[in-house]
Amino acid sequence: MNKKIYDPVSVLKGVGVETATTLAEMGICSVEDLLNHLPFRYDDLRLRDLAEVAHDEKITIEGKVHSEPSMMYFGRKKSRLTIHLLVDPYLIKVTFFNRPYLKGKLNPQDIVTVSGKWDKHRQTITGHDLKMGPHSEITEFEPIYPTKGNVGVKALRRFISQAFHEYGEYIEETLPDTLRVKYKLPNRKTALHTMHFPQTPDELKQARRRFVYEEFLYFQLKMQAFRKIEREQSPGMEQHYNLEKLKHFISSLPFTLTNAQKKVVNEICADLKAPYKMNRLLQGDVGSGKTAVAAIALFASVTAGYQGALMVPTEILAEQHATSLHELLTPAGMKIALLTSSVKGKKRRAILEELENGEIDIMIGTHALIQEEVNFSRLGLVITDEQHRFGVGQRRILREKGESPDVLFMTATPIPRTLAITVFGEMDVSVIDEMPLGRKEIETYWAKHNMLDRILNFVEAELVKGRQAYVICPLIEESEKLDVQNAIDVFDMLSNHFQGKFNVGLMHGRLSSAEKEEVMKAYSDNQIQLLVSTTVVEVGVNVPNATVMVIYDAERFGLSQLHQLRGRVGRGQEQSYCILLADPKSEVGKERMKIMTETNDGFVLSERDLELRGPGDFFGKKQSGLPEFKVADMVHDYRALETARNDAAHLLEQKEFWEAADYLPLRTYLENSGVLAGEKLD
Ligand code: ADP
Ligand code: MG
Repeated sequence: MNKKIYDPVSVLKGVGVETATTLAEMGICSVEDLLNHLPFRYDDLRLRDLAEVAHDEKITIEGKVHSEPSMMYFGRKKSRLTIHLLVDPYLIKVTFFNRPYLKGKLNPQDIVTVSGKWDKHRQTITGHDLKMGPHSEITEFEPIYPTKGNVGVKALRRFISQAFHEYGEYIEETLPDTLRVKYKLPNRKTALHTMHFPQTPDELKQARRRFVYEEFLYFQLKMQAFRKIEREQSPGMEQHYNLEKLKHFISSLPFTLTNAQKKVVNEICADLKAPYKMNRLLQGDVGSGKTAVAAIALFASVTAGYQGALMVPTEILAEQHATSLHELLTPAGMKIALLTSSVKGKKRRAILEELENGEIDIMIGTHALIQEEVNFSRLGLVITDEQHRFGVGQRRILREKGESPDVLFMTATPIPRTLAITVFGEMDVSVIDEMPLGRKEIETYWAKHNMLDRILNFVEAELVKGRQAYVICPLIEESEKLDVQNAIDVFDMLSNHFQGKFNVGLMHGRLSSAEKEEVMKAYSDNQIQLLVSTTVVEVGVNVPNATVMVIYDAERFGLSQLHQLRGRVGRGQEQSYCILLADPKSEVGKERMKIMTETNDGFVLSERDLELRGPGDFFGKKQSGLPEFKVADMVHDYRALETARNDAAHLLEQKEFWEAADYLPLRTYLENSGVLAGEKLD
């Protein structure tokens, strides 16, 4: 008989129309799909010695039925079956609830294997599972599958067992031998068999290792192919910047670059000069000196004869960047302009004209930069700051304003490396992982809400010294109205508290951008000493005189977000403080507050945040963009992820990859995924 692994599942015994329909809803149509339907966990049914098992733990024992089992019925449907098992030298009572049918199967002297929960005090077991026969005849690691409707775990096991029996020989290898041998991975057939019918923990570990690698390799292959093709099919410009001028500019800066900044500047300059388009993500903690790096990159591009653009998400930030870039770049002879929606009329027309005829070298702005009326004369470098705030679409529009400019995304939200190479797998990643010397650590404290009075005294003492403070109220997700109300309440309370002494300001998402601007300006000019705000100040705001950051309900924020907020202080010469008001209930919540008080390193925090919250929650609900893996776990299997990424990049550069039969499954996958045809990644 000519069996093909992609026969419909209905060829299997016991799979009728109804079952086939349910299986199809689970994504299982062919025998192959069924074989690839992997368990998500295993029940460990290894025998354990009663004396070693703790109270309430799961246990599996083998015993002899000692006497006739007894049944008790209560109500119409409820029942309890009691069995006495001789587990030498103990006599153990085992109870099964609501499984009356077991009684008929059991006779004194029968050997059975029972799993359940051990009550150490009463020396009894509440049974979950009973199998006729000795333990040696059962599967020690019982696979548990995702199930649906009338297709339960037992049915799935039966179908899979049959499928293996009849179709196992048709299972094809999907990894190249070279890599499989290199990493000592079991072949696909063996590994699949192990996943479904494991015999030992070690064997299971090896099988799992294979699927983790396979999933990552395929995924990274797609990402890396996409990156390669982008490079080859849309060549960028070679920006021959003036090295002499660039060196001179760098040495004229008011500080010496940190080693991390130097490394990143080199990476960016290599991209500028190369014939491909730069597509680079620059990560660096708040205050690590990304803006300086941006200034250097922009400078380089201008010396090569191009224009640069810096796009930021808010007007406040645009103005701040314009000011700092102006200080750095104007003395070096660059012409800088700012374009936001508040630049209007004649002034706007003049800027647009100067941009188009090439008089302006560097344009800084908000999304105003991507409007149709904005035309560059020779755009060479696009930098976007706080990259995650812009949609992919917005970034693309700006990029399309030039021939094919180099693009640099900057973000102050440290993304754990494993996520960075997953979510931004098609980009190059640069990291500034070092702070300029002499930066004072922000002292962070965790306080309960009932300590508010003491906290306010502390805040007052700082204000008396001439400093300023922030008080952040959390975003209430369900309702922007509640959110704003919350901030207003805190504002009222603090206005009262500091009445006649200090001015309190209020900032939230319901204010118009003109109103926000006004509040920020007053705070910047120290007309307001204490600013109550929702998280809208999270990004980029720079008021060096602010030394205290108080965060209400801090347990509601992610660690990375808390870190961002904390980064609003510690920007001047004075010692700064961050106070987290939180009464977390859970252990994880307490742990998170503790971590905040222990480290100022955004990368450490982001890794811990990922561990504690998992990848799904890391980016928030809305924009996760995370791929789903069946076996692999991005957090725990990060080493395999890095290995797969390197292997994928390496493979694509090799001639054999495109020719040798060994790589056919990988090539076929790339063809089917549309990447080679130039389709966008999803
Ligand atoms: P980021 O954009 O990463 O938050 P900035 O570029 O705004 O950081 O830098 C924060 C502050 O540190 C600025 O005042 C800047 O002038 C200063 N700075 C940047 N690089 C250095 C350095 N290498 N040494 C000392 N100070 C630096
Ligand atoms: Mg910045």
